Amino acid sequence: MKQSAGYEKNQVLTVEIIDITSEGEGIGKVDGFPFFVKDAVIGDQAQIRVTRVKKNYAYARLEKVYVPSPFRVDAKCMFHKQCGGCQIQAMDYGRQLEFKERKVRNNLIRIGGFSPEYIDQIMEPIVGMEEPFYYRNKAQYPIGMNKEGNPVAGFYAGRTHDIIANTDCCLGAAENKEILRVILSYMKDYHVSAYDETRGEGLIRHVLIRKGFTSGEIMVCLVINDKGHGDGKGARRGVGKGVAKGGAYLPSQEKLTQALAMIQGMTSVSVSINTDQTNVIMGKEIHTIWGKDVIRDTIHVRDVENDFADFGRGITFAISPLSFYQVNPVQTEKLYSLALSYAGLTGKETVWDLYCGIGTISLFLAEDARQVYGVEIVSQAVEDARENAASNRIRNAQFLVGKAEEVLPEKFEKEGIAADVIVVDPPRKGCDGACLETMIKMAPDRIIYVSCDSATLARDLRVLCDGGYEVKRCRAVDMFPMTVHVETVCLMSR
Ligand code: SAH
Repeated sequence: MKQSAGYEKNQVLTVEIIDITSEGEGIGKVDGFPFFVKDAVIGDQAQIRVTRVKKNYAYARLEKVYVPSPFRVDAKCMFHKQCGGCQIQAMDYGRQLEFKERKVRNNLIRIGGFSPEYIDQIMEPIVGMEEPFYYRNKAQYPIGMNKEGNPVAGFYAGRTHDIIANTDCCLGAAENKEILRVILSYMKDYHVSAYDETRGEGLIRHVLIRKGFTSGEIMVCLVINDKGHGDGKGARRGVGKGVAKGGAYLPSQEKLTQALAMIQGMTSVSVSINTDQTNVIMGKEIHTIWGKDVIRDTIHVRDVENDFADFGRGITFAISPLSFYQVNPVQTEKLYSLALSYAGLTGKETVWDLYCGIGTISLFLAEDARQVYGVEIVSQAVEDARENAASNRIRNAQFLVGKAEEVLPEKFEKEGIAADVIVVDPPRKGCDGACLETMIKMAPDRIIYVSCDSATLARDLRVLCDGGYEVKRCRAVDMFPMTVHVETVCLMSR
């Protein structure tokens, strides 16, 4: 049966890929009718097979590349198509940066209603990475069993929950592979079962690995489907370079902790108890079974005027398995340094940092401000923020638990607290209307907007501009090379 524009499923066509969607799919047109083609790179001439036809567009699968795009590169990872984590790994990195910059620019024009000339005036060049691989400080691997009954670690294939074995993700730390090898061989040697989602049985569900890139400290947390026999007062016997504690949660537990302790940088091994049949990875209960409860990492302030040279000062954070922490530490330093430089602090300002998480940006700002107030909805993150302030001896940062759109109006209307500078770093959905409204009423000299979604950024900038602000500077930062995501920081002033 013929569908829209006469195209039908399984039809084979030849197209040239002329554009990319914001999700990284290639766009090819036949007689003006657009086809979205996953894994195609802009500039490819290709054979495609239609998979789904809609009224005004269709989806197609890339079947054969006749003439590869000049921007096509050999993907580093053989699983990049199946995994879906790296949507644009086959695209040259320079072209990736161009794509992201254009995505931000287009959203500011299309959604924000700014003129192209104006955006070209205020936009500064995107900040890319020198080494766009192995940048992630955090990895979460699902654990399962293969057909031969051996434990495997890898990633979920497509939208299924089948695990494809791969311990060598080229976005993560180099140590991940060895850590997983140790865990899988322990499971095999001691007959430790992997969790089976459909039956809700088996022990090991996920492995979380975090690394402090500046400290070299590594944390491993095994998410398990059993409450174990830990009572918090278990035998404290010396094992390797650390201390076994908190009782037994795993069969032959010491064999595993001993082997993990041999890995350079290993600082903390813990278990997280998650007995719920759910997609949520981490359980709420965490027990350290070897070493320390946290790892540390330092974020350095960098000189944005001087190619991001190290200023020689930094803030050290304690990170637990459940803490929120930016996953690309190299780019985080650049992003925060840009926000700090845009804030133009002289030491006299009252600064609000909304959506502050564990206070990373707040503490960065505090050194150059009179007083900083951080607002965050997750109370555990606020506790972390307070501890991080104390351990860095920062006394002029105060943290408040609650929704930004509730805390800010309340503090402003009831207590008359002022702001010279407001920094916001909201989740993808952007700022709440009530929050933007109060910001406009508080009338700070400058607003810094850090955003992980340039569509909601553009929407919110429009509201602030209609409220009397002007966008002065704007810069994209590539926090997630090989993916379609891009971070943006904007300076607005009254
Ligand atoms: N600035 C921090 C965290 C940014 S992520 C950093 O760079 O590390 C966004 C944060 O906003 C998360 O910690 C999330 O818990 C918090 N959040 C989400 N909705 C919120 C709301 N309505 N009010 C305050 N915080 C919120």
